[in-house]
Amino acid sequence: MNRYCIKILELSSLNIKFLPGVGEKKAAVLLTELGIESYEDMLYHFPYKYIDRSKIYRISELNGQLPYIQIKAKIRNLQTVGVGNRQRMTATAYDESGTLQLVWFKGFKYLANQLETDREYLIFGQPSLFNQQLNIVHPEIDNFEKASSLLVGFQAVYPTTEKMKKAFLNSKTISKFQSAIFKSLKIKIPETLPSWFIQQYKLMYLHEALYNIHFPESPEMLRQAIFRLKFEELFYIQLNILKLKYKRKSAFKGHLFSTIGDYFNTFYKQYIPFDLTNAQKRVIREIRQDCGSGKQMNRLLQGDVGSGKTLVAVMCMLMALDNCYQTCLMAPTEILATQHYETISGMLKELGITVALLTGSTRKKEREEIHQGLQDGTLQILIGTHALLEDIVTFKNIGLVIIDEQHRFGVAQRAKLWQKNTIPPHVLVMTATPIPRTLAMTLYGDLDVSVIDELPPGRKPVTTLHTYDTKRLQVFQFIEKELQKGRQVYVVYPLISESEKFDYRDLEAGFEQINNYFLPKGYKSGMVHGKLKPAEKEAEMRRFVNAETKILVATTVIEVGVNVPNASIMVIESSERFGLSQLHQLRGRVGRGAEQSYCILMTSFKISSDSRKRIETMTSTNDGFEIAEADLKLRGPGDIEGTQQSGLTCSLRIANLGKDALILNEASRAAGEILGKDPDLQNEENQVFTTQIKRLFKTRITWRYIS
Ligand code: ADP
Ligand code: MG
Repeated sequence: MNRYCIKILELSSLNIKFLPGVGEKKAAVLLTELGIESYEDMLYHFPYKYIDRSKIYRISELNGQLPYIQIKAKIRNLQTVGVGNRQRMTATAYDESGTLQLVWFKGFKYLANQLETDREYLIFGQPSLFNQQLNIVHPEIDNFEKASSLLVGFQAVYPTTEKMKKAFLNSKTISKFQSAIFKSLKIKIPETLPSWFIQQYKLMYLHEALYNIHFPESPEMLRQAIFRLKFEELFYIQLNILKLKYKRKSAFKGHLFSTIGDYFNTFYKQYIPFDLTNAQKRVIREIRQDCGSGKQMNRLLQGDVGSGKTLVAVMCMLMALDNCYQTCLMAPTEILATQHYETISGMLKELGITVALLTGSTRKKEREEIHQGLQDGTLQILIGTHALLEDIVTFKNIGLVIIDEQHRFGVAQRAKLWQKNTIPPHVLVMTATPIPRTLAMTLYGDLDVSVIDELPPGRKPVTTLHTYDTKRLQVFQFIEKELQKGRQVYVVYPLISESEKFDYRDLEAGFEQINNYFLPKGYKSGMVHGKLKPAEKEAEMRRFVNAETKILVATTVIEVGVNVPNASIMVIESSERFGLSQLHQLRGRVGRGAEQSYCILMTSFKISSDSRKRIETMTSTNDGFEIAEADLKLRGPGDIEGTQQSGLTCSLRIANLGKDALILNEASRAAGEILGKDPDLQNEENQVFTTQIKRLFKTRITWRYIS
């Protein structure tokens, strides 16, 4: 094979090590660091930014806020300073408008012999401010005349890692590889979209788009290239997920809840503990419509912490009961399941409904009775933990499954619930993790989504404060005042696996400090963390729920769902280390009673600007959706809870769900239009789509039926 003449089909199968200049060693690094294995992978390794190298700045125009820039300057005062590890080379660059300091910390010995004073250089780098003095650390510096070939407008900058740099793989090298691939191509890169589609949406062709993303011919061409690639990426995700939805809706029959009967009506008229909020009413109507349609429901119910999802769940359960179906509610922990059981059996006790609790610690005899009741249909509602999933748990006729706090359950577990009846039951997944719309469309595009966007009346919003570690004594005094009023307090420590040892030390030191201060005053504290056995954890939690302990020192294990209305303060230690959605979840543990509640975010003095933004977001809003949007913008979707298991948003190469909502909407509409006319993508003109979907989504189809 002549490796310089590539036929196009080989792009995805041709190993990158064959590209001139790459070789075995670099190929290995590319694979481990970036997952690049083939020519195609390399072409789809996109720059993360571009530098305008056509513009030359004057030194007087510079400040510490600019991206990479270049100047034309001479240098003087070239010298090596410091000793040993701290040795560095410095120089002063100057043009007619001012001066600037250049600094090199390593690799300067060779450079020192090359540089000459009073010669014009093209100096390239990112200016920053250090001790009131503008400098550039590790600038690229080239002889100006020789470097004029660099002055070619937009230049791509690629993400690199430390390991890559060690293997001499920097942004420039990557750029050379891209260029080498294009040179080796004999024909144009084939289209991944049909031509009618490209024309209809006025897209750039793939070959031009890929070329321009790496070597922009003009800002406008770059804009079009980016648009084409983002649009395509989002379009295929939508086409794939909406296809599943169309299919599910036509393929699966659902149990028909045709009537609203006595249980529902009696409860609604006589026993409902409060008036439903409008949002609760709307959501119940949506669910009612689904379950009355003859199709199987798969619905995600989003509602911020405290928005009243449990009551919605109860009303839906009554709907199932009225139509002679059984129903179950699954919660992620024993304590949550128990809480649900107590609340729900309390609400329903006048209606003569049979409710049981099944958890890991349910006694054998009781367990057997439950199994019996489920099989002969005398047991109507089952509430529990993972124990519900065991094969031995079989129902006479289950019609509705409700899953609380969805992200703690894996896909496989949800699948098990489907199999508990010949016709799969309706599934309602409830989550308190608000998901921005773009993310929901991408992750749960095949699910219907209902949102409770209103809190019950009379809640006092939690007051959120930011303070520094140095003020801990004041925080303790504040806590003491609340304890005197009879309230309880959470103190949460971060626990991040890489620094686990230190984190446990912090946690234990914190616990000791709290005990030293509060125990003599008669307030007991408890501590829970992931190293405790589940039973120990449950016991410790229970002591707090029963108010035997007043302060609960914990890692984030308390995050999900626990309801202790008497707890009115949430102190979050090292809060700069938490993500936004986690902070919001934690804050949701307080503010559940009628009292004014507080969330106190402790940080050290020096925190990163991203951390500062997170803290500012927390102190400025209580709105979970606003926070989720901010989180998406700050972190990108890869880290947001519940998204990892999909493997989908992490694989976005170019689109950004935080920023590309408009493109996503357009792409989604385009996908819907096509499926509306050709749900199975059978038509000749749509064959390219089918091929491409197969290629892109080989591995991750089945679970989407389930969630
Ligand atoms: P979450 O959505 O976080 O699961 P819950 O269902 O636990 O919220 O409800 C939080 C609290 O709000 C509970 O104490 C519940 O009794 C109360 N609640 C729910 N709906 C209403 C309502 N319509 N009016 C007043 N209080 C309500
Ligand atoms: Mg809940």
